[in-house]
Amino acid sequence: MGVLDELTTKAGGEDAVGGVPARLVAAPRDTTEAAALISAAQGLSVVIRGGGTKLDWGVPPRELDLIIDTRRLTGVVEHAAGDLITVVRAGTPMAELHDLPGQQLALDAPPAATAGGTVAANASGPRRLRYGTARDLLIGITVVRPDGTITKAGGKVVKNVAGYDLGKLYTGAFGTLGLITECVFRLHPVPAAAIFVRATAPPGHAARVLAGQFAASACEVNAAPGAEPELAVLLEGTPAGVRERAAAVAELLDGEVSGTAPEWWDVLPWPDGGVGIKLTGRLSQVPALVATAVGAGATVRGSAGAGVLYAGFPPDGEGADAVVEAGRAVELLRAAAVRACGHAVVLTAPDGVRDTLDMWGPVPGLELMRRVKDQFDPHYRFAPGRFVGGI
Ligand SMILES: Cc1cc2nc3c(=O)[nH]c(=O)nc-3n(C[C@H](O)[C@H](O)[C@H](O)COP(=O)(O)OP(=O)(O)OC[C@H]3O[C@@H](n4cnc5c(N)ncnc54)[C@H](O)[C@@H]3O)c2cc1C
Repeated sequence: MGVLDELTTKAGGEDAVGGVPARLVAAPRDTTEAAALISAAQGLSVVIRGGGTKLDWGVPPRELDLIIDTRRLTGVVEHAAGDLITVVRAGTPMAELHDLPGQQLALDAPPAATAGGTVAANASGPRRLRYGTARDLLIGITVVRPDGTITKAGGKVVKNVAGYDLGKLYTGAFGTLGLITECVFRLHPVPAAAIFVRATAPPGHAARVLAGQFAASACEVNAAPGAEPELAVLLEGTPAGVRERAAAVAELLDGEVSGTAPEWWDVLPWPDGGVGIKLTGRLSQVPALVATAVGAGATVRGSAGAGVLYAGFPPDGEGADAVVEAGRAVELLRAAAVRACGHAVVLTAPDGVRDTLDMWGPVPGLELMRRVKDQFDPHYRFAPGRFVGGI
């Protein structure tokens, strides 16, 4: 029996990505076993599955022989509290990392999402304003490359980069450059106090919060057709400092101080089967982006403080009408994003509609990305076709 037979099982009905069924599934237990698996899987097309919370997002793979499931690659390997770092296996659920003794990985991600999937998707949520994204908090990484080679980049201290910082390359690559097996993250202390200020206010008022230097951890907008737009600001720190800053922000926005987040906080604004679009732009252009998206019928949420927004459209019937509607909305928002010096990327859309949309839109640097892919995965076997420009 060969290594591949030993390490894989026949795929079941649930083992599919974006509607494309796999033939085989494997769940390696450690980096060495993952390297043996990938070495033995030469010639097979591969998609990596973490928590699977958003695996249906993005472009479906062109072909799929093998799903590598990371959910046995779990556990915190090290938590060096004095150095504010942790080393974790890629399949570890984010829930475990939100809750380390006295410290946290300050990345908003669904509890069932894995560390590797969150890095691979460069996911982030409201607190990106203060703490940054996965790309900012990742300081070291272990990856099994498509040829089976184990590579490490970065290390266990914050200032550690010599040469190319390859962790940055694997972050947001959606599994197209290899299997992430271990991540080293920078941690932050759990703040002693956290308070929200909630207000009915136009998105443009976020600029006042930023200019006021209240050191907000997040500044989120919620806007929908026919409803007053809302802002919510998260302030973290010492109890006395937070109380004082919250009172000042509440006065500025004519809002209310609250111990709890609004129900829409960190909730993506589309239901199952809807169309979800990530919209980015310059901070000064956030009000225009929100106005265009709401005018087109979308609910918009996201960071008015960081210029990263999500626009959601509910499921809109079936067939040709839905396709035309979705296409129009994407075109409109893409034009608005270009005017705002940003991008509009379709994250998810119903089957049938998704195939008709240009999910990524125009992306500068595509030739460079192709050259990187040629070096890392010359046979285009890892997540084939999932990334920008069919990479
Ligand atoms: C196209 C796309 C864009 C997204 N954008 C955002 C965003 O802007 N903000 C946000 O909050 N969330 C975003 N998400 C959601 C984000 O995916 C989830 O929070 C996170 O992926 C969940 O991790 P998971 O373990 O469920 O990964 P999955 O949903 O299982 O996988 C996510 C992606 O990462 C790859 N992957 C998973 N594990 C590994 C690994 N160990 N090594 C290499 N590749 C791996 C998968 O093949 C897949 O492409 C996005 C997801 C996708 C697919």
